[in-house]
Amino acid sequence: MKKHIGIIGAGIGGLTLAALLQKRGFKVSIFEQASKFARVGAGIQQSANAVKVLRDIGLEDHLRSIAFCPQTWNNREWDTGVVKHELSLGSTFEEKYGAPYFLLHRGDLHAAILSKVNQDSIYLQKKLLHYQINSEHVQLTFEDGTVYDVDALIGADGIHSKIREQMLGADKPRFTGRVAYRTTFPASLMNGYAIDDCTKWWGIDRHIVIYYVTPKKDEIYFVTSVPEPEWNNESWSAKGDLGELRTAFKGFHEQVQKVLAACPDVHKWSLYERDPLPTWCDQKVVLLGDACHPMVPYMAQGAAMAIEDAAILTRVLEEQPNIPEAFQQFETVRKERTSRVQLTSHKNQWMSKPTDSDWVYGYDAWKVNLS
Ligand SMILES: Cc1cc2nc3c(=O)[nH]c(=O)nc-3n(C[C@H](O)[C@H](O)[C@H](O)COP(=O)(O)OP(=O)(O)OC[C@H]3O[C@@H](n4cnc5c(N)ncnc54)[C@H](O)[C@@H]3O)c2cc1C
Repeated sequence: MKKHIGIIGAGIGGLTLAALLQKRGFKVSIFEQASKFARVGAGIQQSANAVKVLRDIGLEDHLRSIAFCPQTWNNREWDTGVVKHELSLGSTFEEKYGAPYFLLHRGDLHAAILSKVNQDSIYLQKKLLHYQINSEHVQLTFEDGTVYDVDALIGADGIHSKIREQMLGADKPRFTGRVAYRTTFPASLMNGYAIDDCTKWWGIDRHIVIYYVTPKKDEIYFVTSVPEPEWNNESWSAKGDLGELRTAFKGFHEQVQKVLAACPDVHKWSLYERDPLPTWCDQKVVLLGDACHPMVPYMAQGAAMAIEDAAILTRVLEEQPNIPEAFQQFETVRKERTSRVQLTSHKNQWMSKPTDSDWVYGYDAWKVNLS
């Protein structure tokens, strides 16, 4: 009989794993601390390596209908706009890597994955306090006093993972001293001024990435990285000051100025990271996504790594009935790649000059060797 898998966290990683496992007949229970899911203002890039996984749960066509497929990802000098490196996307990218490159609203991606999960298997307002491993089960204790038993536990509970803390000890992620201002807003507020498909504007000590997030190009997103060591807050509801943001990008290219002048509102988010962890698993418990390899978003690969994890974890659970061995194998297969992406993101030079991106986008989680 297939195992009962408990997943903590209904983020992009946890839900992708749930959908993949349920498709293969596993019993899955997902526990999420939030009381509901909301479409908060943020965009997300999904490259071919992630799309190849999402294709398995039948999402590719739907994503094409809700996402923007850019022709190019430009990297330009902050003031002159001189192109430092241009990555061709569109059909060139799709032919080369076997799947498209999508830009979309993060909430739309989350809702799309959620639609592929059995809704009866999701338990909201369930904040995990701790787990206990015994010979038969992993016992989960939640803040509301409820207790559940599962055969194996996946910690998809994000950068501040409780499961990571229990496994490896209390240790906060590192604040980078930098903040991300980000928002989505109607393109109509630009009064007909058109922007590039997707551009990272590289300043001396800061940058801003701007792109459309819908096929009709009627919604624009931007995300920044700005030094601000004294501001340390990580909340989806924290607002940024538009005046401070505009001042921070004074002197940037006209396209940046137009976008910042038009945006009506902005969120502000501290950027954290961790170094690669010494281990991801504890017998019948394993970490996935930001819980085990959080990174700064400078390659736009954090969620993509969680999605790839979900595919590899699904494959090892299908092939290996011994759970601790399956989890150890998962860690062995994934760690080198996710560590490389964490460290490359940390340097923040990705695409700042001609860059070999085959190793990132050419990865196919369904085909990599599991041994
Ligand atoms: C500014 C910014 C831009 C980004 N852009 C991109 C991009 O373009 N492309 C990309 O691929 N990635 C991007 N990322 C990275 C991406 O957002 C993350 O890597 C990804 O969301 C991680 O998914 P996850 O499922 O592992 O964790 P999360 O999305 O953090 O989900 C964790 C879930 O667990 C729940 N949870 C936590 N603790 C508990 C508990 N104790 N009990 C129950 N539930 C719990 C949380 O409520 C949450 O729902 C970006 C990140 C940032 C900050």
